[in-house]
This record gives sequence, C-alpha cells and structure tokens, in this order.
Amino acid sequence: MARNIGPVCRFCRRESVKLYLKGEKCITKCTLERRPSPPGVHQQRRRKVSDFALQLREKQKARRMYGVLEKQMRNTFDRALETKGATGDQLLVQLESRLDNVVYRSGFAKSRAQARQLVNHGHVQVNARSARIPSHSVRAGDVVTIREASRALQYFKDALAWAKTQPRPGWLEVDPDSYTAKMVTTPTRDQIETQVDTQLIVEHYSR
Ligand code: SF4
Repeated sequence: MARNIGPVCRFCRRESVKLYLKGEKCITKCTLERRPSPPGVHQQRRRKVSDFALQLREKQKARRMYGVLEKQMRNTFDRALETKGATGDQLLVQLESRLDNVVYRSGFAKSRAQARQLVNHGHVQVNARSARIPSHSVRAGDVVTIREASRALQYFKDALAWAKTQPRPGWLEVDPDSYTAKMVTTPTRDQIETQVDTQLIVEHYSR
C-alpha cells in the first residue's frame, strides 16, 4: 500500500504542531522548534481561513499523526458513525486501538511508522498469534507481545530501555521485561492525549 517515504517534518510545520513522527529526534532535535514556518518557498500571505480549510487541516493532522491513508481514515470514520457514542470520540478510540498505535504507546517502537514496520515484519503477536496487519483493532483484554524469537534482536534490546522510560496511557498495562502489553480497557476520550479537534473532522466528513 502506498506510504509516504519522504520527509515528514514538513507535516508538523504545515500543521504547526508536533506530530511526533520521527521518534527520539522529536524530543531531542525537533525541526519544528528550529523552523516553525510552514513548508514551501513562498511567503505565506495572511488571509482569512475558511471553515472548510480548518476542517480539512484538522483531518489531515489526525491522518498524519496516526499514519493512515485517506481511504482508511474515511472507513474508520464510517465505523465510528455506526458505533454508539459521540462520533468524534469513537473515531479517536478506533484510531488509538489500531495495533500499530498500541505497539507505539507500549513503548516498543519510537514512532508509529516504526511500530507499523514491526507489525508488517511479523515481530508482533496478539493473544499469542501472529498479527501482521497494522490496522488490526485491538480489543479490551487482548495481550500484545513481541515474538519470542525476535527479542534477541539488538533492536528489541535497545527498545527495552526506551520502553521503560515511556509514559503509558491508563488503558494499557505494560510489562517491558516480558515484552507484553495488555489493553485493560477500551480507551476513553479523556484517556487519549491528543491535540486533535475531532468535531472539525466530523464536520469535514459530514459536508
Ligand atoms: Fe515533527 Fe518530530 Fe520532525 Fe519535530 S522532529 S518536526 S515532532 S517529525
């Protein structure tokens, strides 16, 4: 599936917010902090921002943050529409429940892109069974682990030290030493730390 493999810091500069797309570098040497201007060679003209533009930017921000393509985002939104509760909240819950996001939140990957690669390469299991689909929806009670044979890799030895220092959301129980993360409960809106205004995304898709 098509993926952006070009520079990503310009996405943060476009949205004027840190999207944490490059792992450790986002904490130690963030490009946005050094160059907060929008990308592009032309000076940005001051102009009135339309409602449509605001809604579009918010949707793009969420899409880039979670690393999903437009079609996947639209499908996620459609599923959120069918789920009981506020659509915007459900959209976020579904994005947070993606397997690549759970691996990232557990601290076993430094970015969602890295987490997606770990899943694609077969290093991750859900409930002791191989799971190679990054968009797989993790449910409350599911246990996500790093495959035993993969733990000897230098990457995972380094990842262990990183995972131990990472803050974890309340809906996830992580034991870095056994490379295990359990989703104790489905995340709720107030447990999800994000700068995304989901109401704008709902308005965008409801046009
Ligand atoms: Fe965004 Fe990270 Fe680049 Fe900073 S270093 S601009 S947070 S991707």
